[in-house]
Amino acid sequence: MRLLFALSSLTLLSFSLLATETPLKPAVSYQLSFSNRAHHEAAIQARFQGVSSANLLLSMSSASPGRYAPHAFAKNIYDLNATDSAGNLLPLQRISPSQWSVGQHDGTVIVRYRLYGDRGDGTYNQIDRTHAHLNMPATLLFAEDYAQRPASLRFDLPDPNWKVATQLQLHSDGSYMAPDLQYLMDSPVELSAYSQRSWKVADQQSQATIHLALHHQGTEQHFDTFVEKAKAVVAEQQKIFGEYPQFDYGQYLFIADYLPDVDGDGMEHRNSTILTDERSLKEANYAQIETLSHEFFHAWNVERLRPADLEPFDFHRANMSRNLWFAEGVTNYYGKLVLSRTGHFDLATYLDKTVTALNKVQQSPGRQFFAATGMSEMAPFVDAAISVDPTNYANSYISYYTFGEVLGLALDLTLRSQFEGLSLDLLMRKLWQEYGKVGRPYTEQDLQQALAELTANPDFAKNFFNHYVNGQQLPDFEALFVAMGLELAAAKPTQAFLTAATLVEQDKALKVDSNTLIGTPLYQAGVDKGDVLLTLGRYKLSSKAQWDKALARHQAGESAELRFRSRGKTYTTQVTFSADPSWVLTENKEATTAQLARRALWLKAQR
Ligand SMILES: [Zn+2]
Repeated sequence: MRLLFALSSLTLLSFSLLATETPLKPAVSYQLSFSNRAHHEAAIQARFQGVSSANLLLSMSSASPGRYAPHAFAKNIYDLNATDSAGNLLPLQRISPSQWSVGQHDGTVIVRYRLYGDRGDGTYNQIDRTHAHLNMPATLLFAEDYAQRPASLRFDLPDPNWKVATQLQLHSDGSYMAPDLQYLMDSPVELSAYSQRSWKVADQQSQATIHLALHHQGTEQHFDTFVEKAKAVVAEQQKIFGEYPQFDYGQYLFIADYLPDVDGDGMEHRNSTILTDERSLKEANYAQIETLSHEFFHAWNVERLRPADLEPFDFHRANMSRNLWFAEGVTNYYGKLVLSRTGHFDLATYLDKTVTALNKVQQSPGRQFFAATGMSEMAPFVDAAISVDPTNYANSYISYYTFGEVLGLALDLTLRSQFEGLSLDLLMRKLWQEYGKVGRPYTEQDLQQALAELTANPDFAKNFFNHYVNGQQLPDFEALFVAMGLELAAAKPTQAFLTAATLVEQDKALKVDSNTLIGTPLYQAGVDKGDVLLTLGRYKLSSKAQWDKALARHQAGESAELRFRSRGKTYTTQVTFSADPSWVLTENKEATTAQLARRALWLKAQR
């Protein structure tokens, strides 16, 4: 819970009252203008008042809340200068790649710089003729000395049709105020001629207004259809937790950019979320609702129900957590499950999405190297991180989104089938009441303890965590699905199988275009990425069709001769076909009434 670590709920309340009556005097004020937006530049001025140390240390962030890889945002600022209150130039020294020191000031330091940004997503900035889409850690120079002080933002809007979409509070003087640095950095801003819809929601205790600001090129009718889907998601998620979070100022804001020049992403914040997609709503057939569902679930799970190892968020380095399988993975599970409950996914679609995740985890060799908690710790390398050296992630890594989604599924189905009246929904609600709602971060042990209390069975909780969360076993999904009137079975039980690697046609042969997986026949034959497959048995592998034909001639357990070329040399070896490991998940047409009832409680709209 980011904000409440800095301010008690009492001071938060008084801030909110002050904000509407006598504005707090900001110690830091930023002014942003966009006259060179055609070339993706913003001009930024930051004014620090009451500077008490001889040298003011300024930093660009190297991390962004909700993103776990390090990002050197300082690479995109230039033309820096600093003056005092009288306009005298001050010495400005770069003391590290992301830090500057300013001396000889008169208590006021005004820094001006240019910012370049042309990537519209949840991490970076995109400045162009149509919008300024700003993520604050990628935008603002900040001073650690001022981390606990209020800051204000002011935008010079270059177009009379542009408006400001942000979770920050608007003041009567036209500025936007953040109570402290963590809040400021957690508050992205979209400046554009976006469309907006708003609706009120309420629970037993409180009311809130949900806003959806959409910058797109589609029609208002498409937007309205999407808003109806969003309303259903918001309402269905509230039923899981029993209440909405206490949104600051009673507002929650979706900021969506569905434009051809953005990059697809979703990024949660405390009272808002960024949603980007290259496709229009129509092109995607409203598939963007899946990201919206995932991100709104984060308003509870991760924004407030928060892993202790992510607090406080450090803007100077990568942030690592062992709990992302829960914070991201269980969120991924619910993002999809809720769309079954709202009716956006029919049963076949939901089962297909579920078995896709399951196949990924089941077939990935990564499980022998790291448990779900260990995969979570890999986030700094994989969460929008870029490096030039190749990795063996195909064998060593499973996304904590997918891994956690599958564990959430296993836990939900186990609770529903083995504990009368229980479900993962009830565990989420318990965790919300005991941790998220009261701003108490949780540890791994807390999750296990909550499961032990919910089930009144500490051994069950201990075994689940030991075997599946911190261990490398997979739950017995076949049995779990039987209880739901579903059948998990081999997709192609008789089909001969050699690899799941990507094969591409190249010069009348087949090139292996991804790492082969440990344990598959092609891996055992010594074939790796970049190798070229020439013949299999009596088939020349000149195309993918020939490959399929060759496989169809064989059965699991049989062997054939494989010729392939690797880094200029040709090799001949025997391969033994295995069975295709993929699963398929279907309805059991002979399911019992009890199984069907259990499935409906799981997948249908909740009361
Ligand atoms: Zn997420």
